[in-house]
Amino acid sequence: MNLWFTEDWTDHLRVSLRIREVLHREKSPYQEICVYETADFGRLLTLDDIIQVTERDEFFYHEMLAHVPLVAHPSPRRVLIIGGGDGGTAREVLKHGVEVVQVEIDERVVEAARRFLPTMARSYDHPSLRLVIGDGIEYVKRTEELYDVVLVDSTDPVGPAEGLFREEFFRDVFRCLSPNGVLVLQTESPLFSSSLVRGVQEALARVFPVVRLYWGPVVTYPGGIWSYSLGSRGPDPREFDPARTRGLGTRYYSEETHRAAFALPPFLRELAAQP
Ligand code: SAM
Repeated sequence: MNLWFTEDWTDHLRVSLRIREVLHREKSPYQEICVYETADFGRLLTLDDIIQVTERDEFFYHEMLAHVPLVAHPSPRRVLIIGGGDGGTAREVLKHGVEVVQVEIDERVVEAARRFLPTMARSYDHPSLRLVIGDGIEYVKRTEELYDVVLVDSTDPVGPAEGLFREEFFRDVFRCLSPNGVLVLQTESPLFSSSLVRGVQEALARVFPVVRLYWGPVVTYPGGIWSYSLGSRGPDPREFDPARTRGLGTRYYSEETHRAAFALPPFLRELAAQP
């Protein structure tokens, strides 16, 4: 069988994964959702033909998105996740014994993950997680609740996710963060989307007193290196209690990789608002 899934990383660069079987394909009101069985990367979830997660390398991304801010915050109790429909981010967040509200716009992504990606979507059965189906941008505008950590695990900045990369959204998040609150959002490939990274960093710096850029590998994301942008009302994520990095059952995240994520090579330092 010679079946391949191909994503265009740029107009001149593509990545392909060999597919064993198409497990699911549907059009939701927001996007086309597909799940494939790949030859080498386990199951693959795509939205509008863009890779979201593979079972083989999702741990790089979910661990770095979740544990860095949760360990940076001195005592997180309430966490808001925006997006993250596959459930992988929630799985990592729940390891900290916190209460989680997750706001995902597309309930069909959650359903597909429940059916085909149980290693991630098992978090939806956890008693400390409340799932809200809705737009995260509207949610932070209206909520009266306070959160210690807000995580944005979104699709690329087009369609419903576009507003999740804007200053107005960051201001709304700031308002619903507790005094030591921390926001982290995935900010795409620092190589192919450097102006987006810089723009988010600058916007965060107009809202938050502490802004950091960190990075890590994700094999199947464009360029293989991924960026995360953090805005904090107080804690500096570079100062943390190493004891809290242990016992999390992680495969990439550790005390050392937490520190290493903030060691910015010169091309990344140029993108950081507060290097
Ligand atoms: N880790 C992935 C990546 O970087 O490619 C993202 C995974 S997760 C599947 C992204 C989720 O964000 C999708 O399920 C999508 O429906 C959701 N999403 C996009 N815009 C949203 C919004 N405004 N509010 C809530 N969820 C949103």
